Amino acid sequence: MIPREFEYHAPKTLPDALGLLKAFGDEAKLLAGGHSLLPMMKLRFAQPGHLIDLGRIPELKGIREEGGAIRIGAMTTENELIWSKLLQQKCPLLVEGARQISDPQVRYKGTIGGDISHGDPGNDHPALMLALGASFVLRGLAGERVVPADGFFLGTYDTLLQPGEIMTEVRIPVPAPGTGYCYSKLKRKTGDFATAAAAVTLRVQGGAVQDVAIALTNVGATALKARAAETALRGKPPTDAAIGEAARLAMSICDPVADLRGDAEYKTAMAGEMTRKALCTARERAAR
Ligand SMILES: Cc1cc2nc3c(=O)[nH]c(=O)nc-3n(C[C@H](O)[C@H](O)[C@H](O)COP(=O)(O)OP(=O)(O)OC[C@H]3O[C@@H](n4cnc5c(N)ncnc54)[C@H](O)[C@@H]3O)c2cc1C
Repeated sequence: MIPREFEYHAPKTLPDALGLLKAFGDEAKLLAGGHSLLPMMKLRFAQPGHLIDLGRIPELKGIREEGGAIRIGAMTTENELIWSKLLQQKCPLLVEGARQISDPQVRYKGTIGGDISHGDPGNDHPALMLALGASFVLRGLAGERVVPADGFFLGTYDTLLQPGEIMTEVRIPVPAPGTGYCYSKLKRKTGDFATAAAAVTLRVQGGAVQDVAIALTNVGATALKARAAETALRGKPPTDAAIGEAARLAMSICDPVADLRGDAEYKTAMAGEMTRKALCTARERAAR
């Protein structure tokens, strides 16, 4: 439970952090909230010789609206998401999701950028990002690129982030007024990861589904976008029967790993139930 010795660096600017990443290469790891990295270091699954703390770089913090998008600095903590008036008013799904992450200690230090960059299918932000149509700003010494959340998660602990890149910002298109939403998460106890969870955004116009996004947590190697379920709902009235069919289609893409939270069959069934619950709540909220 004791990590390997490492050297600690606390750059104050992004160019300095990128320079350190280049200088130390494979020996370096970025440190955000530390709530995934430090446990891995203590178990010696990660053994970096250099830790580059992103916590003193002001431009990686903050939440603002610009050009039709909500822009969130990668080092913004879960608590800061939860208490943001802007998010409460314009993107309540993210607030609802962040409130269900772990416990107060983790939410106080854990960051949105760290949660996404870690690439853990058990983390909640990946599915939230897929449901919200988010994109991520990745900065390297050669410049910056913006990549959509859909396609960013390649496998367990594997993302589009290249060595030498830092995620600087999360961008979320401001959801249209009246968009229904829900993050429905089943967990065994406070502080646990999801047994299964579903993130949903839903727009209803003239009694029919105009647009819908459904994404699942912890039932595959990455967060999963339930595309067939979305297609089945689009253009149709969101009746209980249509929602039941969408939940069935969501279950068909699940491929969870059995563990202490349950076997594959149980987790798949729970993903269907979380999808049904999230769609019903989103329908209710969209109608308000
Ligand atoms: C007991 C416990 C329960 C938890 N339960 C949940 C849960 O229910 N849901 C959930 O979503 N999470 C859960 N977590 C994980 C937690 O949310 C972590 O905080 C999160 O996964 C990582 O964010 P962090 O800021 O702590 O990043 P760190 O742990 O510091 O970093 C994680 C990884 O991402 C890299 N990284 C960090 N920031 C960047 C960046 N800006 N650019 C590029 N790479 C970066 C790091 O190098 C590292 O490899 C739990 C953690 C614990 C300890």
